[in-house]
Amino acid sequence: MFFKKTSRAIGVHPPQNKGTQGMAFVEVNGFKTITIPLNLQVGPGCSALVKKGDPVKVGQKIGEPLGHWSVPAHSSVSGTVVSVKKEILSNGSVADLVAIESDGQQTLDESIKPPAVTDKASFLSAIRDSGLVGLGGAAFPTHVKLNPPDGKTIDTLVINGAECEPYITADDQIMRTRADRIIKGINLVCHYLDISRCLIGVEDNKPEAIKALNDAINSHAGELKAGISVVSVKTLYPTGAEKVLIRYLTDRIVPENGLPADVGVVVLNVGTVSFIADVIDTGMPLIRKFVTVDGSAMNRHGNYDLPIGAPIEDVIEAVGGAKEPIGKVIMGGPMMGVAIDDIRHPILKHTNSLIMAGEKGAKIPKEWNCIHCGRCSRSCPMMLMPSELDMAARQENIDELREFHVMNCIECGSCTYVCPAKRYLVQNIRIGKNLYRQAARKAAK
Ligand code: SF4
Ligand code: SF4
Repeated sequence: MFFKKTSRAIGVHPPQNKGTQGMAFVEVNGFKTITIPLNLQVGPGCSALVKKGDPVKVGQKIGEPLGHWSVPAHSSVSGTVVSVKKEILSNGSVADLVAIESDGQQTLDESIKPPAVTDKASFLSAIRDSGLVGLGGAAFPTHVKLNPPDGKTIDTLVINGAECEPYITADDQIMRTRADRIIKGINLVCHYLDISRCLIGVEDNKPEAIKALNDAINSHAGELKAGISVVSVKTLYPTGAEKVLIRYLTDRIVPENGLPADVGVVVLNVGTVSFIADVIDTGMPLIRKFVTVDGSAMNRHGNYDLPIGAPIEDVIEAVGGAKEPIGKVIMGGPMMGVAIDDIRHPILKHTNSLIMAGEKGAKIPKEWNCIHCGRCSRSCPMMLMPSELDMAARQENIDELREFHVMNCIECGSCTYVCPAKRYLVQNIRIGKNLYRQAARKAAK
């Protein structure tokens, strides 16, 4: 058993760099052109419902889902479609992109109205129609997550407010300022899914967020459909990783290749659950995102409310510009985020931060030989042996990848962070996971 029960919290302490903590969200508009990919999620994307020259309004559906796992795409501006074409995105996938030139009017689509929700089916349908995917970074369709396979009974809703990545404070700000929305969203989920317990995990470096959530719970005490508790967890990266948070809060272990539903749990991010309250009240689909913008190359840092589809290069200018040449743009946090190769790429549904590093911060350190110090294993929250997985991946040894449980790696990067030899551990383990998946697919044919 590689992921044993332990009372010891395992992880690392990268510098927090949460200089934007407590900064109010600033709404930013006025982008001339926005570009919306039609695959803003895990799973199949959408087919375009618009073509060049079509007028569109705010909230209008512009992409039709291609399957049960897919959610629709909506416009975040009013204006005119200037192109619909295929492009390669920053994650390497190819997607249809709808480019819309804004008319600056922000005219609302007439179809926007609160959905009629009377039972679980209509609740899930409203969530799907809103285009909601996990807003914490995974982009997993929420209506799928809230509808576990037959035979899986969910008794616990876990709300992820840990926000353990350095720099990012958008979720902290959501918890401070939208705690009522979070509790209302939790109440809706617990009511329609018949869940009796909800645990909100928040790192202990966010005392204002913990207080705001407890105040909201107390002020709604008479209406709550489930027992809701805020659990203060130790500030330690990667406490907010789904499987790690489940273990800390419930003492349950998600099996290898398993899902939280296998242990009776559904996990939602605080932003996701507060959006659920909004969409049930208003019917406004997911067209904007709360994003932390930070990094040593920026003139200013802050928390922003941005339209989905806004080009990153325009966002950089709109929030104060760069003070030095940008060496690297990371979408997400510095530990698990991805480097963007083209700043014309847009803000996505799951973008929670943009970190702009200067040229010095973008340098990749030279890799040295492993000195077998064991620090990587001691830092791994999944109790894996990263140095062995690294070697197995480099040697393309599928048997060893299996033996060392490569698929249980959550790609948190803790091993790479602590390695004194600067080994490219998580990078190679990611490659190892792909090799393993390919081999499994071949074997299944
Ligand atoms: S931390 Fe780095 S040097 Fe130490 S055992 Fe792991 S891979 Fe080797
Ligand atoms: S990246 Fe994978 S192997 Fe490395 S510490 Fe995280 S879970 Fe463990």
